[in-house]
Amino acid sequence: MNRARLVIFNAALGPLDYRVPEGMHVEPGSVVVAPLGPRQIVGIVWEAERLPASEVPEAKLRPLASVLPVPPLKAELRRLIEWTADYYCAPLAAVARMVLASGGALRGPATMTEYRLSGGAPERLTPQRLAAIEALEGEQATIRELAGIAGVSEGVLRGLVNQGVLEPVLVDCDRPYPSARADFSVPVLNSAQSEASKHIISAVEEGQFAPFLLDGVTGSGKTEVYLEAVAKSLEMDRQTLVLLPEIALTEAFLRRFEDRFGTPPVVWHSSLKSTERRRAWRAIAAGEAQVVVGARSALFLPFAALGLIVVDEAHEVSFKQDDGVRYNARDVAVMRARFEGIPVVLASATPAIESLQMAESGVYERLVLDDRYGGARLPTIDTIDLTAEPPARGRWLAPRLVAGMEERLARGEQSLLFLNRRGYAPLTLCRNCGFRFQCPNCSAWLVEHRLSRRLACHHCGHETPPPPACPECGELDCLVACGPGVERIADEVAEILPEARIAVVTSDTINTPEKAADFVARAEAGAIDVIVGTQLVTKGFHFPELTLVGVVDADLGLEGGDLRAAERTYQQVAQVAGRAGRGSKPGEVLIQTRHPTASVIAALAAGDRDAFYEAETEARRHAGAPPFGRWAAIIVSSEDEAEAREAANRIGDSRPRVDDVAILGPAPAPLALLRGRYRYRLLLNARRTAQVQHVIRDWLAPLRFAPGVRVSIDIDPYSFV
Ligand code: ADP
Ligand code: ZN
Repeated sequence: MNRARLVIFNAALGPLDYRVPEGMHVEPGSVVVAPLGPRQIVGIVWEAERLPASEVPEAKLRPLASVLPVPPLKAELRRLIEWTADYYCAPLAAVARMVLASGGALRGPATMTEYRLSGGAPERLTPQRLAAIEALEGEQATIRELAGIAGVSEGVLRGLVNQGVLEPVLVDCDRPYPSARADFSVPVLNSAQSEASKHIISAVEEGQFAPFLLDGVTGSGKTEVYLEAVAKSLEMDRQTLVLLPEIALTEAFLRRFEDRFGTPPVVWHSSLKSTERRRAWRAIAAGEAQVVVGARSALFLPFAALGLIVVDEAHEVSFKQDDGVRYNARDVAVMRARFEGIPVVLASATPAIESLQMAESGVYERLVLDDRYGGARLPTIDTIDLTAEPPARGRWLAPRLVAGMEERLARGEQSLLFLNRRGYAPLTLCRNCGFRFQCPNCSAWLVEHRLSRRLACHHCGHETPPPPACPECGELDCLVACGPGVERIADEVAEILPEARIAVVTSDTINTPEKAADFVARAEAGAIDVIVGTQLVTKGFHFPELTLVGVVDADLGLEGGDLRAAERTYQQVAQVAGRAGRGSKPGEVLIQTRHPTASVIAALAAGDRDAFYEAETEARRHAGAPPFGRWAAIIVSSEDEAEAREAANRIGDSRPRVDDVAILGPAPAPLALLRGRYRYRLLLNARRTAQVQHVIRDWLAPLRFAPGVRVSIDIDPYSFV
């Protein structure tokens, strides 16, 4: 090969050709460095015939600079990259960049210096030094990372190095991970579990594409079932990828994994330190990382010998990425399994309608676990009609729910209150003039956070301290909180049950794996009586003493007219209900609602899952919504309102006439202003068989926009704001 076509990480440039110098060996998948103008760039060698590029004459080609010391990306992964780019209308470069997500890993084997406490004391113990030393107990990392952990400047830590308080340690960046052992602690599965796992295990043995929907009620042992398939994959020296929706969940999973296999798995998520990231990446590419547990981005890691993929809590919305490459990790996981020729397991107690439909039509094999493990019963579910049994004035919890919590507290059991709203109150206004606090960058109200004394925008992160006076009328002390968030509910619980120990669990309070681990440990040790949380508490956790779940406002998710509102409400409430009564004591769930007869609420109360799914499936079929039809969105944005509108109108005016595709809009997006950008949306509703991506590409390709305009495409959108 003396000519190489590269995918480079610059979406605007597209593939480029280079000359392969004498003596250099490259093949498709090789990761190389090439000159671009005065710079050096990283690229991936691709099969030339699969990519268009401008035909530069041989004599004019510049030579590649070097080949990076990592294994070439396998053909299976290259096909996945192509498929993802094509399906989601994203630049190949943007998808390829997700694969090489660790710059450090590309530089090859290395050692580096980390630092840890030596046990010595500094000559002068300033409060800052003391605090740093306390914070660094048990830590070992680079100076930069330690500075982040301790919250001090690198200068302070260098001072401690000079005084011998921190000592250098030379570490091999690629030191191997301890081996997981398939037979470390083998569980005895009950008959339904072993029946389900048998199917997956034999698919792992056969090593062929086989998608499974592991559909089991909460607490039925889905995790135990798929861990047996992981064991089989380990025995066969194949790698396994387990995708989890939330890092908060990984902590509990890691411990469980360690109990089963003797060592924790390799972890991959966005908050890894750069050294952990490069170590994981290289071990994955070398085939040495046996089991990788990660967030959705782990899907694009360069596994050497993948044997199994598991997507746990597969219905979770957070598998859908809504910026950059807008992909759905659940769906890409199935495609990866297909290209790799391996089984994939989608596990859920509340599968997405899309997944159930795939099972129904025979594409996925459905494995069912109908009962909770070990005789634990599913909780009883009842609704509280807030119009008939209202809470006391200025309160949010109805008397029956309060009584239930009092009983649990008296018996030493735990209660959980679920409200999917962070902060204290979703809206703050002036009592005097009615002024409402709005985000300057977004069309959204600022949410009051009392714990951190802030008014915050949940869309862009804008924050401001609550002012002493109304910015509009100048009246002092006139701000009132409207509506409840979890912090306000926690305050109410503290008033009603002063002796209760309360934990507020949201992404504000549980924002690191350590905090998640600490919360789980305290809950398990019985050091928490009442948990008040957002969707973060709906899944994964297993607290045997938790016997009461209260859903503070079941109607919340049904507002807004989102296509999946009913399904999401069903999933959230069913999942949070699934936290109750997982041990030997029976669980009870109380759902507060103003619409007890709404079909989704009634189905939840009756425990009639099939009724809900049937009704919802029919509604989707009728509306031509997924999985029976397809949606796609085009989002146009600019910092300039007129520019955004003009661009959206131009797209609208040039709309193609295609059978099977209805095009709606443009219209201002519900979030008409987001992070300082004005937004317009067009929505496509297509027959399943329509080639939506082709239609969109052909439509947009000839259009040119002002430089400030961004046009993004969202295939199979989840968010309609
Ligand atoms: P799910 O993932 O379906 O919600 P889990 O796998 O978390 O269910 O199982 C619920 C609980 O029951 C966990 O504590 C788990 O350890 C336990 N469990 C399930 N199956 C078994 C088994 N076969 N042997 C021992 N414990 C089990
Ligand atoms: Zn904002």
